[in-house]
Amino acid sequence: MNEIILWISYLLGSVSFIVGLKMLSHPESARRGNLIAAAGMTLAILATLFFYRTPEGRPLHNIPLILAAIALGSALGTWGALRVKMTAMPQMVSLFNGMGGACAALIAVMEYEHYLVQGPLVLSTISAGLIIGGISFSGSVIAFLKLNDNLGDFRFKGQNILNALLLVVLLSLGVALTFQTYYSPVLLFGVAALTLLYGVLFVLPIGGADMPVVISLLNSFTGVAAAFGGFLYQNQVMLTGGILVGSAGTILTVLMCQAMNRSLMNVLIGNFGGGQAGATAGVQGSIREIQASDAAVLLAYSKKVMIVPGYGLAVAQAQHTCHELEKALEDKGVEVKYAIHPVAGRMPGHMNVLLAEADVPYPKLLEMEDANAEMPATDVVIVVGANDVVNPAAKNNPASPIYGMPILEVEEAQNVIVMKRSMGKGYAGIENELFFSPKTRMLFGDAKDSLQKLLNEVKNL
Ligand code: NDP
Repeated sequence: MNEIILWISYLLGSVSFIVGLKMLSHPESARRGNLIAAAGMTLAILATLFFYRTPEGRPLHNIPLILAAIALGSALGTWGALRVKMTAMPQMVSLFNGMGGACAALIAVMEYEHYLVQGPLVLSTISAGLIIGGISFSGSVIAFLKLNDNLGDFRFKGQNILNALLLVVLLSLGVALTFQTYYSPVLLFGVAALTLLYGVLFVLPIGGADMPVVISLLNSFTGVAAAFGGFLYQNQVMLTGGILVGSAGTILTVLMCQAMNRSLMNVLIGNFGGGQAGATAGVQGSIREIQASDAAVLLAYSKKVMIVPGYGLAVAQAQHTCHELEKALEDKGVEVKYAIHPVAGRMPGHMNVLLAEADVPYPKLLEMEDANAEMPATDVVIVVGANDVVNPAAKNNPASPIYGMPILEVEEAQNVIVMKRSMGKGYAGIENELFFSPKTRMLFGDAKDSLQKLLNEVKNL
């Protein structure tokens, strides 16, 4: 009976993960999808606690300890998630992901001795879980520290060769662990230590702008490590969850690389985001400013306006004011749409989430290709806190680190108004020739303040 209840709970848990993941693909259903998957996970945990029986038929004996650990983890997780700023979400994801990797690695460390007699096949899952989970843990911690500005990039000559050698040694020792016939703590903890070291050295040299891609990659590692745990325990829900995280993380990594037109290898060893020489070549001329009152006139007498949101919109939390401006312009008969670049902001879907939060109707959001097709017929583009995703250097300057990345071609529109606080650079740390274009006017100030001023002026016209 216990086994049937457990089996049904795991089935329901697995289905909830799949349904939840599917619902995450649309901002309107994402919140519910998350809750459904969380409910499935809660069911699977409770079922394991109360209905799992060891092969000898005994129930779990340390339930108070497990419940205390769950309570502590839940309290810390809730506290962190409630406090985190929207712009610091990638760091948070990285930290949570690292915890998953640590769990998978700890399972391997604890169970190695118990499963030793079962031979190489079972030991290979333990060894893989240890190495992949450990790399994910220490790599995620480094990614967190880098994104949080606690740690800079660290490179030295021959680093890639050292990393490659270390990986070969690590994998060889992993194989040795698999074929071991007696318990050797030195080998086990040696592999664990090397794994952690490799995770650190693997992420340390990767350029700051590539951290979100790395986090997504490490996320898929954690999924795979958890799936190995599922194999080990023959636990269906752990296996399904791990495989889903592993495959979703891999797909996301590939999509992000495609959006930047770069290979994964280039991301891992390309030193992107370092503000290399040559990045500013070709940028010359002077900028022209515009005041909110003149910008309001230009906008109100336009037929078609395109808003390009970027990281600065998220920093300023200006999405609601932006939506108000869009409605005020539409009241004046202007057609307003949003152009969404796939890597605008600091995480995939960042702009979609922000604009959905402000109740911007979803059909108003154009994907990059569709938005670019409409640029020439657009009277005014308003760039709100975006920089790299509208930088023409991606098309014109082969020396630029973002060369080849598809961009929103806002310079094709008739007029461009750029809202930002200063001439500060974007995440890639490079100058933007768009700001010096004769078509462009700069409206300096915090995005929320500028949008509010613009809104007031439009309403007064
Ligand atoms: P950027 O980081 O290029 O530029 C943001 C701009 O916003 C800055 O130039 C800054 O200028 C301005 N800004 C900051 N705060 C404010 C504020 N309060 N009010 C107004 N403006 C402000 O952002 P983009 O969205 O254009 O590009 C995203 C970058 O992140 C790309 O390089 C992308 O490759 C990278 N990235 C994104 C990923 C994703 O998944 N979304 C993944 C990997 C990388 P100033 O200081 O002058 O105000």
